Amino acid sequence: MPRSDQSVRSAPWYAQGLRFRCTQCGNCCTGPTGFVWFDMDELTAMAEHVGLPATTFLRRHARKIDGRWSLNERQVNGQYDCVFLQRDDEGKALCTIYPVRPAQCRTWPFWPENLETADDWFDAAKTCPGIRTGLEGGGDFIPLKHIRIQRDRTPS
Ligand code: SF4
Repeated sequence: MPRSDQSVRSAPWYAQGLRFRCTQCGNCCTGPTGFVWFDMDELTAMAEHVGLPATTFLRRHARKIDGRWSLNERQVNGQYDCVFLQRDDEGKALCTIYPVRPAQCRTWPFWPENLETADDWFDAAKTCPGIRTGLEGGGDFIPLKHIRIQRDRTPS
């Protein structure tokens, strides 16, 4: 849905910035089944990163839904992990394509639906300890400009 002029002009509730720091829990890379959308530039980068031709990458690691490509999932302990999620010995999440991860992953948690209202941000904190850390005054200060950049890069 296109944003209205009003929503662009008026100061958002997070105008003073937000605090956040990822704890590498991996919650945003697992959970109920879902989609990690990517475009063809992102495909090229991911395929190069894992040393595969793009067609092979798509066949092995992706699926097409309604004309769009999403990364595959792997069922682990009743949850659906991103196919590129691994965990170290301490249970920390490791993204094996981190430098070339799609915009959908880069922009979390500054997605429009998490930022619409402060309540939406609090809701997102229920599954993202990085947001919770910020709400408790820890983590890194993220200024409005940076939040807006992430928000507006989120694929719809
Ligand atoms: S859910 Fe939040 S804290 Fe956990 S890995 Fe994702 S961004 Fe980091």
